Amino acid sequence: MHDNDCRSSFDVSVLGLGSMGTIMVHALLKQGKRVAIWNRSPGKADALVAAGAHLCESPQAALAASPVAILVLLDDAAAQQVLAADGVTAALAGRTIVNFTTNSEEQSAAQQALVNRAGGRYVKGMIIAYPRNVGRAESYCLYTGEQDAFEQHQPLLQALAGQTLFLPWGEALAFAAMLHAHMFTAMVTFYESVGASRHFGMSLPKTARLLVDASRFFVADALEDAARRFETEDFTGDQATIDVHAYAFEEIAYAMKAVGASSPVFDAACQVIQRAQAMGFGEQDISAASRVFGPAS
Ligand code: NAP
Repeated sequence: MHDNDCRSSFDVSVLGLGSMGTIMVHALLKQGKRVAIWNRSPGKADALVAAGAHLCESPQAALAASPVAILVLLDDAAAQQVLAADGVTAALAGRTIVNFTTNSEEQSAAQQALVNRAGGRYVKGMIIAYPRNVGRAESYCLYTGEQDAFEQHQPLLQALAGQTLFLPWGEALAFAAMLHAHMFTAMVTFYESVGASRHFGMSLPKTARLLVDASRFFVADALEDAARRFETEDFTGDQATIDVHAYAFEEIAYAMKAVGASSPVFDAACQVIQRAQAMGFGEQDISAASRVFGPAS
């Protein structure tokens, strides 16, 4: 489907058909939504048009086509360029913009002001998923901005990720920072451990598979137990104390160094445990190491 003016009514428009935008359009189509699309390089729309999306020739036409428009562009500069295009201001009136483009609080505030001045509403979206997991019931999407606009479009947005969470601005950005710090560090420490396999003379792919399988329950359980302990403030050393961990950490660090493996992330973890001991938490549960990063409240 293709026309020049996109005056017909659609459920949602998606502007930006990179890795993330493309998969979002597929997820919306899969839920039976009528989707209008626009991309700077129109060739990227071919497969989506074949799948049932409606290609618009300008950002203005795409915005006018639906009550809600999803922006998923490379960066804030790209989003600014698109919002400054001819006729866009007029097309924003009465529309809700859900901006998934990564940007800062200041950049989002400026965009919200621009959209509000034009008579539109603004929601900031942060998808906690790689494109392969967009549309899954387990995936999370974090939203902030204008809550009434979010609530109005929540059923549609649920097509992108089954779990949606709306938080006020400050909390949403703080939570996004903490969540990504946790996730990305977990990924990097996995790469570090797997990278050591060649120093131990083991196959990297085989080690990676074994590590994933053997740690899945262990890690999920340890995090779940820590969350429970933070809720109940129970740091009793009834499972494995920080002192017990400190000894194991030393042995592991020694084994890594003995074969010449580089382990800066694990070395940093050792320092946290040593610091927790120095602070007097040696006989408490490993989760008490969180106190190294500040008092519990
Ligand atoms: P991408 O594959 O590089 O796609 C970038 C999109 O932005 C393309 O549609 C590109 O159009 C468009 N674009 C770039 N500069 C533009 C400009 N000046 N004017 C108009 N359009 C422009 O990126 P992506 O992975 O889809 O990511 C998109 C956004 O989602 C980013 O802000 C990213 O941080 C965020 N995000 C991505 C992921 C992820 O896993 N990929 C996860 C969470 C959040 P052309 O096709 O014409 O180049």
